[in-house]
Amino acid sequence: MKTLCWIRRDLRLHDNAALSNALLSGETTIVFVFDSHILDKLKNKSDKRVTFIMQSLQEIEKQLQKKGSSLIIRYGKPEVEIPKLCEELKIQKVFTNRDYEPYANKRDDGVSKKLKILNIDFETYKDSVYFEKHEVINGSGSVYKVFTPYKNKWLQQFEETGRTVSDFECQLKNVRKFVNAKNVLEHNWYKEIGFVEDLPLLTGGTSEALKRLKNFDRVIADYTEGRNFPALNGTSNLSVYIRFGNLSIRDMIRFSIKTSSDGSQTWLSEIIWRDFYHMILDSHPYVEKESYKREYDNIKWLGKEEDFKAWCEGRTGFPIVDAAMRCLNQTGMMHNRPRMIVASFLCKILLIDWKKGEKYFADHLLDFDFAANNGGWQWSSSSGCDAQPYFRIFNPYTQSEKFDQDGQFIREWIPELAHATKKEIHRPDKDKFKNYPAPIVSYEQNRIRCLAMYAAVIAKK
Ligand SMILES: Cc1cc2nc3c(=O)[nH]c(=O)nc-3n(C[C@H](O)[C@H](O)[C@H](O)COP(=O)(O)OP(=O)(O)OC[C@H]3O[C@@H](n4cnc5c(N)ncnc54)[C@H](O)[C@@H]3O)c2cc1C
Repeated sequence: MKTLCWIRRDLRLHDNAALSNALLSGETTIVFVFDSHILDKLKNKSDKRVTFIMQSLQEIEKQLQKKGSSLIIRYGKPEVEIPKLCEELKIQKVFTNRDYEPYANKRDDGVSKKLKILNIDFETYKDSVYFEKHEVINGSGSVYKVFTPYKNKWLQQFEETGRTVSDFECQLKNVRKFVNAKNVLEHNWYKEIGFVEDLPLLTGGTSEALKRLKNFDRVIADYTEGRNFPALNGTSNLSVYIRFGNLSIRDMIRFSIKTSSDGSQTWLSEIIWRDFYHMILDSHPYVEKESYKREYDNIKWLGKEEDFKAWCEGRTGFPIVDAAMRCLNQTGMMHNRPRMIVASFLCKILLIDWKKGEKYFADHLLDFDFAANNGGWQWSSSSGCDAQPYFRIFNPYTQSEKFDQDGQFIREWIPELAHATKKEIHRPDKDKFKNYPAPIVSYEQNRIRCLAMYAAVIAKK
């Protein structure tokens, strides 16, 4: 049989469910489509994520060339490009891994319908999460709304399988042998898709991802504590690799089992959060545009557009917030602790709709993942399932004192405060640090405004 494996957010040639099955079923061609529906919406034509993808594809091409094969690249609408390629290559079956984002579901429905007309099968596999939608359910057969019982059930089911994490072996000897003249190593695909190369801080590809996973071995035991401090290298920095599938989720879980420590257990919990948010998005697709708790959409946000601009640009006058936003703007990355701080700050101190922050993160994060981002923002704004209660408001000053005690993280991103003392740096005196903006709002006053703004539509639980 002639099979096609369409890779999307699974840019790797190992432990890949769809690829493994395609190769077992027959002679396989592998394709990646630069999706014009997605790319046309990206305003920044030097988006580093495009370079990260290109680097990942180049590594795949090198691996395939060693097997006498090549990766096919297409640019356009998948519902046009995939059926066209199937006809050209006389493909009988298309294999791909499931993606739970609303756009992806729509896209796959469209492709599947077109293929059906051509009498070509379209088979999808669970790959990017460990347990999907209806696999972890409560006693009454529904999906969970609260994380801890979900996690406990997830772990119970994991134990029941004897903690055996399947490895979808990919027998590359079954790839179709051919030479692709427009392969990603020789052809200028940036030009063809209308982008320019801009190197991200982290290089795309599986070999780089595996190196980082290996280095994390030295850190994971202290993860439970270390993950809270943005100036420390206490987390894996693997989110972008898992986002684009340079690593499989099973690689991560196997690693957490192998390293077996308190830290690994906490790290596994974070991976379970990822499954949880993918499950929430898949089972409640309305969260794409609305609050999980719908009454939160009635909030009358009191914040000002100019304050949103200051937040985006890292000039709110709150050092921990500004350091985090400048770090995001320059690198496309942000540590989890500052993500929680700036998200809470935007909705609860600047009183600005969380959806604006969600969009800004989506445009700028290298590891942008719809489910995790939406989940993180709805948690921070209290509108999500199992979210922070609305009356819990992060204090940016105490968060800063606690998690960036010496101001090392702030100093790295805010040169205006490089010489501030440990005491001054969290709440600098505006008369002494004239080059650094004064706070654009009063934390103490806006905290009270926030409580009233939320309380006007939400009963305190
Ligand atoms: C407002 C907000 C927005 C976020 N947006 C994203 C996003 O777009 N993409 C994204 O991958 N993560 C997002 N997160 C979650 C988290 O901040 C990042 O996954 C983490 O900072 C990535 O760093 P790391 O790889 O070093 O993680 P580690 O701490 O090493 O964790 C390991 C892996 O677990 C997953 N993970 C960790 N924490 C979470 C979490 N809270 N929710 C879901 N998955 C998690 C990630 O895949 C991560 O790579 C967001 C969090 C918040 C509060």
